[in-house]
Parts: sequence; structure tokens; C-alpha cells
Amino acid sequence: MAWFNRQKPGVESGAEGEKRMRTEGLWLKCEKCGQIIWKKALDDNLQVCPRCEHHFRLDARARLAMLFDDSAYAEYDTDLVSTDPLRFEDSKPYTQRLAAMQESTSLADAVISASGKFAGREVNICAMELKFIGGSMGSVVGEKITRAVERSRDDRSPLIIVSASGGARMQEGAVSLMQLAKISAALMRLDEAGVPYVSVLTDPTTGGVTASFAMLGDLNIAEPNALIGFAGPRVIEQTIRQKLPEGFQRSEFLLEHGFLDAVVKRSEMKTYIADALKFFCD
Ligand SMILES: [Zn+2]
Repeated sequence: MAWFNRQKPGVESGAEGEKRMRTEGLWLKCEKCGQIIWKKALDDNLQVCPRCEHHFRLDARARLAMLFDDSAYAEYDTDLVSTDPLRFEDSKPYTQRLAAMQESTSLADAVISASGKFAGREVNICAMELKFIGGSMGSVVGEKITRAVERSRDDRSPLIIVSASGGARMQEGAVSLMQLAKISAALMRLDEAGVPYVSVLTDPTTGGVTASFAMLGDLNIAEPNALIGFAGPRVIEQTIRQKLPEGFQRSEFLLEHGFLDAVVKRSEMKTYIADALKFFCD
């Protein structure tokens, strides 16, 4: 999100500086059309640009508040935390990275698992948090999602997963990759039980998440212009030594090529899913 007037206090001096400090954070610039938007107007419009309909990224809490009736939901497995199985260290130890992320997001890991009423119907919704190590999927995300799938199967309440992820979590190596299989197997059992699962892909949904549960919905729908893919465009270009077509790996392109069932605007998302669930369940 490109903030307008992002000068730090003290950088500017004189009347101009004071003016900038007062308006800081109230306005921001649309990263697509360049329009200067009043932040309150963006909040009122579900973080969608009123001019060009660019969908800004939405964090997991805001997403759940938008989807659940009266923004009310119960959370599950909030105490699950990664044990750092590989004792992984890159630019800093994984345990330190986790602690910093937990501090900055107030979440234990990159997904919130919740249940509540959705258009009057009991559902389970998992929303991924991109701000937590790029929404990456490690053992905790895998376990929380698997438990949500199993809960959905046990109480026969539909499942909705909102993805926003860079893929499997490097710091947990093979343990992350195992989550792909674990979740996929649980989803198969959900399917056998005849309980619907709607996958919502948001910007960005890539890597192992696309390669597993994000593409396994009874309905796979995406927000407009979301980046969706497995490997990134640069890697693909280098591998196949060809220029990629315009709009490659964006929602609309994927819809056109049969990888998605629909591209749905954020403002219409709840109604769309509610209608689909009515079709599946009633
Ligand atoms: Zn715009």
C-alpha cells in the first residue's frame, strides 16, 4: 500500500512540514490508478479504490469481519505455535523471526481459523495473514486448516478458506511440504462426506498453497486482478525462455483458461458465496 506523505516527523521543517505531519496517514495513493484517496473512504469501501476498483490487500481480521454475520466469530487453535523443527537460521534464527511476527501481528501464525454464522448458516472460515512471514504455510497453518476441515466434516458445516500466501514456509522445509498432502487428504474426506468447500484466492496466492488446498474447492473463486500461480513469472520466463503473455497469472487470465470458476468483486463476495452454499446445501 503506497502511503501518501510518508515523511517521518522531523524530516520536514516549517509550516509545510507541520501540514504534512497532520495529514500523514489520512490519505493514500491508489497503487493502480494513482488517485489520492481519503483513507476513511477506502475503509468504507472494503479497501477497494472508488475510482478504478483496484482491490487493496485485506488482512485476515478485516476479512473475517467482512464475511461473518455481524462480524462475530469464534476462534480456534490460537495456542498452536511452531516448534522450529529444523532449528532453522537464515539472516536470523527462525525462532526470532517468529517472535517478531507474533509481536507485530498479534497472531501466533499465518492463519486465523474461525467459525460462526455466514448469511444465517453455520460455517468454518480460515483466513490467511500475508503479513505473517508472507502468509507462508508451515506446520501450524497446516494443522489449523486440517482441524478446520475436520470440524466441517464432523458438524457438516461448509468450509471457506481465504488464501493469501507466498506458499510453503522455507524455514520448516519438508515439514511444510507435508502439510500439502495432509490438508489435501482431509479435503478428500470432506468431499466424500458431501460437505461443500469454497476456496477464495486473493492477491497473492502462490506456491504450495496454490498447489494444494487453494485449487481444491468445490468452487474456486478469486478477487479481481489477484496474482495466482505456482512459480513466479520471472522463474518461468527464465526456464522456458519465452516472453509471458499480458495479464499472465492474474485472476481474469486464469478464469479465461479454465483454472477458476469465477472472479468476484469484494463487494459481491459474500452474496456470491451465500448463493453458492444455498445451491450446494439446500
Ligand atoms: Zn485506483
